Amino acid sequence: MKIDSLDRWNVDASHPLIIAGPCSAETEEQLYETTKAIKAEGISLIRAGVWKPRTRPNSFEGVGQPALQWIQDIKKELNVKFAVEVANAMHVEEALHYGIDVLWIGARSTVSPFIVQEIADALRGCDLPVLIKNPINPDLALWIGAFERLHQAGVTKLGAIHRGFSTYQKTRFRNIPMWQLPIELKRQLPDMPMICDPSHITGKREMVAEISQVALDLNFDGLIIETHCNPEKAWSDASQQITPQALGELVRNLHIRKSSSQDIEYITHLEDLRTQIDHADREMIEILASRMELVAQIGAWKKKNNVAAFQLDRWNEVFKSRKEWAKSLRIREKFIVELFNLLHVESIRKQTEVMEDIRDENETESGLRVS
Ligand code: PEP
Ligand code: MN
Repeated sequence: MKIDSLDRWNVDASHPLIIAGPCSAETEEQLYETTKAIKAEGISLIRAGVWKPRTRPNSFEGVGQPALQWIQDIKKELNVKFAVEVANAMHVEEALHYGIDVLWIGARSTVSPFIVQEIADALRGCDLPVLIKNPINPDLALWIGAFERLHQAGVTKLGAIHRGFSTYQKTRFRNIPMWQLPIELKRQLPDMPMICDPSHITGKREMVAEISQVALDLNFDGLIIETHCNPEKAWSDASQQITPQALGELVRNLHIRKSSSQDIEYITHLEDLRTQIDHADREMIEILASRMELVAQIGAWKKKNNVAAFQLDRWNEVFKSRKEWAKSLRIREKFIVELFNLLHVESIRKQTEVMEDIRDENETESGLRVS
């Protein structure tokens, strides 16, 4: 997939690219005041929700077309560019008509190939940058599929917005980041500009700066941050919006990382550490293989004695001691719990395989059959 780089977007593409503005355009004054104050902080790409997808009906659903007129007037007066969310062909047509500079597809739209295709068809032959937010569920194929639909319609100025994923669990995030997904997207589509949306990930203004920095540490190209001249009184997402002044401070305090370095000392030391990691991984896999061999022997022994594969007491004891060992080595408990859960599932699978005499086709005679 051939994707244009950020510097061909016809926006001020300094690193990191900052897009800031209110969750929703509410009134002409609110949009004007917010934009003017953001511009004073040196940021000139403004976001504003014109049509708002809301979880429940009867809440504020955006101003619609009149907001596009405000945007057109503000653009002329303050010399800024605007990004707007579109969710159907009519939105695209109106946004194009009013000279919007950047479009984005929201998380609730990315989940629907029908909607994405409708937007792609409406954009055929148009050269605007389009950002695609991740779908609300952690489905990478769905996200990539949306890029493919747009790309097949001739849109080459594409970018990804990582806004986190919906979860039923109680966490400190509104949408859990699951950073491995945007990282995997970048691995599969290396040219894709990556923008993080710390506002929707956190849901809390107090956490926006922290997550912005994490994104830059992970080599993201930009941030989209909900900013409002009076955040507490915002008509949508009031708890996560920050003032333009707080935005300015946040951006000034960011540690900007280089994506790599040509410094010879840096490169040789990194190479050295990576070689050590390769060795450690190799040893870890060898240890896992011998652990599996022991598991197979236990399976065979239990079978011979007609005992069930799963023994609750033993499992509880394993779990308890491994957590303690890990703690003494300063390894996070949550990590060790997840790792041992995985190991346990695989070990039980292996034991039942031995007990039922099922042989994995990839396994050699000497590997498993110990009974
Ligand atoms: C938004 O950006 O205001 C928005 C609705 O976000 P999302 O699609 O990520 O929920
Ligand atoms: Mn919002």
